[in-house]
Amino acid sequence: MSIAENIQTILSRIDTVARECGRDPKDIQLVAVSKLFPASAIDEAIKAGQLVFGENYIQEAEKKIDELGSRCRFHFIGHLQSNKAKIAARLFDVIETVDSVKLARTLSRHLQDLGRTMQILLQVNIGEDENKSGLAAAETEKLLGDIRELPNIEVIGLMTMPPFTDDPEDARPYFQQLRELSQQLKDLGLFPQERKIELSMGMSNDYHVAIQEGATIVRVGTAIFGHR
Ligand SMILES: *Cc1c(COP(=O)(O)O)cnc(C)c1O
Repeated sequence: MSIAENIQTILSRIDTVARECGRDPKDIQLVAVSKLFPASAIDEAIKAGQLVFGENYIQEAEKKIDELGSRCRFHFIGHLQSNKAKIAARLFDVIETVDSVKLARTLSRHLQDLGRTMQILLQVNIGEDENKSGLAAAETEKLLGDIRELPNIEVIGLMTMPPFTDDPEDARPYFQQLRELSQQLKDLGLFPQERKIELSMGMSNDYHVAIQEGATIVRVGTAIFGHR
C-alpha cells in the first residue's frame, strides 16, 4: 500500500468511528508522524492532501522543516529539553509535549524574541509510567495556572501516551482519564470556556479507541509510513 492509500484508509476509518459514536469527523485531526522517515515520504503525503506532521527529534526535524515547512504544519511530539527550546520555538507550529514550568518559561522567552505566539499542549503521564515523560495529572492545575501568566504561549489542550501494550482496549481507561482531567480543568476555569480543549491521544494501534473516548488529535505513524 502506498502512503496515499494508507492516508485514505485512515481518514475513512476516522470518519466511520467518529460517526458511530456520534461525533463529527471534522473535529478529529490526523497528525502524520514522520519521525525517521525522509522528506520524500512527507512530500508524498502532502501530495495526498495530508498537511500536518509530527516529529520527535529536533535535529532530524530541522532539515525536513527547512525543506517542507512552507507547505505543511509540524507538531513537536518528542521529549523537549530546555536547551532545545530556542530552535523548537522557531521551527514548530505546535508543541504537544510541554511538561514543566521551566520549559514553558524558556519557550515563552524565545517566542517573545521571535515575535511569535505558539499553541502548546501539556503532556500528561496519565499512567504514571516511570519510563515516560509528562507531568502527573495532579500537577496539571498548577502548571496551567503558571503558564497563563506567560506571554506568547497558549495552552490549547492535553496530550498523553499510555503505557504500551498490544491490546488497544488496555489504553481506553487512560484515554478516559485524560478526557475527565480536561473537563475538571475546564470546570476550574483554567481553559477558556468558549474554546474546545484539544485531546491528543491515540496512535496507529489504538486511535479508534481514542476517538471513541474523545480524541481531537490522533498521532499516526506506522499505519501511514510503515515500520521504522
Ligand atoms: C512515534 C509516536 C507516535 C506514532 O506511533 P505509531 O505507533 O507509529 O503510530 C505517536 N505519538 C508519539 C508521541 C510518538 O512518539
